[in-house]
Parts: sequence; structure tokens; C-alpha cells
Amino acid sequence: MKPYDIIIIGAGPAGTSAALFLEKLGYRIALLDQARFPRDKVCGEFISPAADAILSELGVLDAIEAVNPIRLKGVALSAYERSWLQVDYPTSIDGVVMTSLSMERSTLDHILLNRVRDSQVEFMEGFKVTDLVFEDSRVCGVKGRDEAKTEFHIKAKVVVDAGGRNSISLRRLGLKRSSADKGKIALAAHWQGVRLPGPYCYMHISRPGYTGIAPVGSSRANVVLVTDKTCVTGKDVEKFYRNTVLKNPLRGEMLGTGEPAEKVRAVDSLAYSVKTPQCGGLILVGDATGFIDPFTGEGIYLSLRSSQLATGVIARAFDRLDFSKSQLENYDRLRSEEFSKKFFLSNTLQRLIYSPALCVRVVKTLAEQKDLARSLVGVIGDYIPASRVVCFEYLLRLSGGILRSQTSFLQAEKGMQTPPVLDRKN
Ligand SMILES: Cc1cc2nc3c(=O)[nH]c(=O)nc-3n(C[C@H](O)[C@H](O)[C@H](O)COP(=O)(O)OP(=O)(O)OC[C@H]3O[C@@H](n4cnc5c(N)ncnc54)[C@H](O)[C@@H]3O)c2cc1C
Repeated sequence: MKPYDIIIIGAGPAGTSAALFLEKLGYRIALLDQARFPRDKVCGEFISPAADAILSELGVLDAIEAVNPIRLKGVALSAYERSWLQVDYPTSIDGVVMTSLSMERSTLDHILLNRVRDSQVEFMEGFKVTDLVFEDSRVCGVKGRDEAKTEFHIKAKVVVDAGGRNSISLRRLGLKRSSADKGKIALAAHWQGVRLPGPYCYMHISRPGYTGIAPVGSSRANVVLVTDKTCVTGKDVEKFYRNTVLKNPLRGEMLGTGEPAEKVRAVDSLAYSVKTPQCGGLILVGDATGFIDPFTGEGIYLSLRSSQLATGVIARAFDRLDFSKSQLENYDRLRSEEFSKKFFLSNTLQRLIYSPALCVRVVKTLAEQKDLARSLVGVIGDYIPASRVVCFEYLLRLSGGILRSQTSFLQAEKGMQTPPVLDRKN
């Protein structure tokens, strides 16, 4: 096959956005995916407010708006049915309206791919990469098989691996670090006939896990349940999912009028981290760089942003004709500068949600001190820098609030029987 400047493995949000960014700079690009689209993808389908700017730069925001996606006003959270919080995004920041997109992945992926198909990128569906090709310990291409089992071998100056959680680089180079929460499983389905109180992303933490619920159409919602795998082992998954989701009274109220509109889909062993590849010619983007538990639901934004950062570094590598490990490592430095505090926060939140007493108290404190909650939601939504929350002052105020509220909380806890009514204006 003819050589390309850049080969991109995987046509999810990371791969398509990398392809579009790099194509704009004039490079010859091959984008390969083993699947035929539309392909299934388990996802909470809630996209951080900050993603709008990147989607606009990619030239897909108009196409997204044209399908009338749901725009969410904020986040509503409940902890163990004992404390509640609802936070709205600011109406606008620097004149930009703050909302988050909630739309089915098949639609988002389709729009991104349509844009790719309209570009000069060579998109090859049904092309499975089975190995990286090396020259002088630098990646210089890929090989694999197409659907007819015909072998292919393509050369390029740079390979961008956007192959997601099971990407070839992670397996071939042993880059995946074992995960602390190996035992987690996510079960997901779209529900029809539901009545959500408003356009919010609803996170309900309760035993035996948590759910993320987001409206994705009229009376239609995406419901993801994350729990320990052991809870599901040996059980009828459909029954377990439906019963667990509806057992929580808040969820029951929202979803009780509806039904799952499809078979429950599962993905296991959620979080993992990834080591930097020790070779030139290779850059990882999107989920191939690691994955944090979806509680803070920002994988799509991180995928788009990682591709944006990778584009700058790849362009510099072409300018200098230097595709060495040390040149491409600048990308890992940029990612670390931008994301490390955010990952720290996300990991801390993961631990917190599985500690019921503390989680209930933190949510109560955030409900009482809305400015703390707004900062947290802003960091999770990627429109406020993580340093605003991952700092001594914030933690001091949060822990002070927790201590102050502890006495009143213990009293209230005894008397609190019914959940507060969330915003039902919409
Ligand atoms: C339960 C759950 C809930 C989530 N909820 C949210 C949410 O609400 N909001 C959010 O922003 N994010 C969420 N995420 C994360 C989000 O789905 C991912 O971060 C995002 O899909 C990553 O995009 P990607 O392009 O890196 O990978 P993917 O979308 O996984 O795409 C990878 C592509 O690579 C292809 N591929 C893989 N290997 C090869 C190969 N060898 N050869 C050729 N092709 C290959 C695959 O076919 C696939 O199409 C959630 C994830 C999970 C698991």
C-alpha cells in the first residue's frame, strides 16, 4: 500500500478528531478501524461543556446542533438517598453559553465520521491492525488484515494509536498498568417512556454502585449502572440491572414509567492507567492513554483534547523531521501538565463515592456551600482549571464545612425521610 505521513488506528472520537486536526495541516492520513460503522459503544453519552469549542473547531458543531441534541443545564447528584445536590452551569462564560451535550454515541460518532468522509483522510473500515512495524526501534507503520482476510502493510512517519481500551500498542508493548478497580462492571441501556425532572445529568450513588442517567431524546434516557462484578456474577443480568436501577426511589420515580428499550450491554474492568511508550514514531490518544472510572464522565472531552495536543506535537516533529521518542514525549509532558490535577481529583472522587458516610457528608456540605459545588462541577466540566479545587484552600473549606455540618447532619439524618423535590420547571 502507498505510504502515508500519519496512520491513525481507531475511528472513535479520539481517532476521528486527530484525523481531522492533522488533515487540516495538509498531512496524508490513513484512518483505520477494525469495525464497520455504526459500531456499538457503551457510554454515558454526556459530553463536558468544554467539548463544544473543540467540536466547533473540528467543524462538526453545526451538524450536531442540526440533530437537536439535548442540552443539559447542570448536574444533580444524590448520595445513598441521604443527601442531594443540584448544580447549574453558569449561564455563560466570556459570552459562551455553558451547557453540556447529551446525545447517543452512534449519532456523535456518525457525525464525526461524516466529516472525515468529506475530507482528504483515507478512511478504511474493517481494517484490523494486528501489529506495529518497527525500524531501528522506532514505529514506522502497521500491519494487519482486512475483512476478506487479506493482509496489509502500511508505512508512515508517525502512528497515532486511538484504538481505545484494547488498543494494539497497549497489548503489543505491555503498556497497560493493572487497575485498582478490576472488579467493576458497567451495565447500560437506553430507556423509553421515562419522565426525568429536567435537563440534567443525574448521578445517583447508592448500594451496590452508582448510576448516571442522562436524557437523550423525548422520554428517552441513557442509564448506566456501575457496580462490583461480584454483584452480577451468576445472575440474570437484565433482571439484576432493572431491579437495581429501580430499587433506588429517586431513580424509580424517574424511570418507573419506562422500560429498557434494548438489551443491556456490559463493559468490565473500568479504570486503568498506561505507561508512556518507550519508542519513537508512536503517539497514543483517547482511551489508549488510560481511563478513569466514568463517574466524572469526561472521556470524550479528554479524547478530543488529547488529539488536539498531539496534533501540535506531531506538527513540530514534521517541521524538524524528528520522530524520535524524545521529540514525541513533549506530548506526554503537555498532557500531564493539563490533566494530572484533574486525574487526581477524579481518583479522589472515585474513592469518596465508595465511602458512604463521608460521601453523604461531602454532598451535604456541597449542597450548603454552593460556590464549592459550582467550582467542583466546573472542574469536572472542564471549564474551570483543576487547580481551583485541587488546592489547600478548597480542601480546608470543604473539610471545615464537613465538620460544621456533622452535628446538624446527624440530627437531620434521623428525621430525613423524603427526598427534596428537584427542579421540575423543565
Ligand atoms: C461505562 C462507560 C460510561 C462512559 N460515559 C461517558 C460519558 O458519559 N461521557 C464521556 O465523555 N465519556 C464517557 N465514557 C468514556 C468514553 O466512552 C471514551 O472515553 C471514548 O469513547 C474514548 O474514545 P476513543 O476514540 O479513545 O476510543 P473508542 O471510542 O473506544 O474507539 C476506539 C476505536 O478503535 C478501534 N480499534 C481498536 N483496536 C483496533 C485495531 N487493532 N485495529 C483497528 N481498529 C481498532 C475500535 O473498533 C474503536 O472503533 C464512558 C465509558 C464507559 C466505559
